[in-house]
Amino acid sequence: MDRNKLISVEALTRRFPGLNGGAPVTVFENLWFDVAKGEYVCLIGHSGCGKSTLLNIIAGIDHADGGCVIVDGQEVTGPSLDRAVVFQGHALMPWMSTLGNIAFAVRSRHPRWSRAKVREHCQRFIDMVHLTGAEHKKPAQLSGGMRQRVGIARALAIEPRIMLLDEPFSALDALTRGSLQDEVLSICARTRQTTFMITHDVDEALLLADRVLLMTNGPLARVAEIVVNTLPRDRNRTDLHRHPNFYPLRNHLMDFLVSRSDQLRTRVEGIDPRRPPLVFPRAEDGPGAEPSVVAERSHA
Ligand code: ADP
Ligand code: MG
Repeated sequence: MDRNKLISVEALTRRFPGLNGGAPVTVFENLWFDVAKGEYVCLIGHSGCGKSTLLNIIAGIDHADGGCVIVDGQEVTGPSLDRAVVFQGHALMPWMSTLGNIAFAVRSRHPRWSRAKVREHCQRFIDMVHLTGAEHKKPAQLSGGMRQRVGIARALAIEPRIMLLDEPFSALDALTRGSLQDEVLSICARTRQTTFMITHDVDEALLLADRVLLMTNGPLARVAEIVVNTLPRDRNRTDLHRHPNFYPLRNHLMDFLVSRSDQLRTRVEGIDPRRPPLVFPRAEDGPGAEPSVVAERSHA
């Protein structure tokens, strides 16, 4: 493969014990995909298909029952400051201020830094997510959007090689979500941050992602398709929908979520799991390709 892989998920399997001693439930089995350095990858799938479980295994806070995650050539065996996680709930320490929460993470990354250096570093990221003035507020004194900003600033402040985001905007109202998406977009464009994000919002995925992984329903969930985002990289929320590729891509993702997730799972069963997922659009499809038959195409 010619892409510069930073994360490689290889034959990953996770099972949970069945209820009341019943048969174990296989959330996913034999999952394969990778994320290149500097790439923004979104994972879309229905609730309960195993997205958070997958993200937690990549983060090193859950374990696999088979297969492995390789980050930069090393197998993941536990959490690392190289991989920062933003959880769906903000997961801030409630007794600490905005500054305190961020500084705590920065000090664990740079234990030798002086107080002044930590303070200055934190301030840069507080300003970046537009929380200037809220440095000394506790999470309870902040709105949901502001708390989520603290979580994002905390993750960015440790300057991780990889950001792992688990539905970071889903609990927010539409206005706040939009402005945070814009910020993340501009931060990622500036820093070329490698990011793996879970979402169930198709528009969010098309705004932020370079590639969108489509996960089928569990149990035995699979990454059935990888959709390459062909919208120009300098896209923004206000003119995204005017691009001729926008609706073909959006319809394709919606169609997957609305009706095809189950069908695709049956279709891909029995196929060699190492077979690469279908990729849409293919290079030869060109811009604005008609996506409606992609799932039927056999993969050469
Ligand atoms: P998603 O994030 O896609 O909504 P999750 O990864 O949270 O899904 O969960 C996937 C499946 O695994 C669900 O059916 C859930 O009930 C099950 N599951 C998650 N964690 C555990 C656990 N610790 N023990 C048993 N089952 C679990
Ligand atoms: Mg989840």
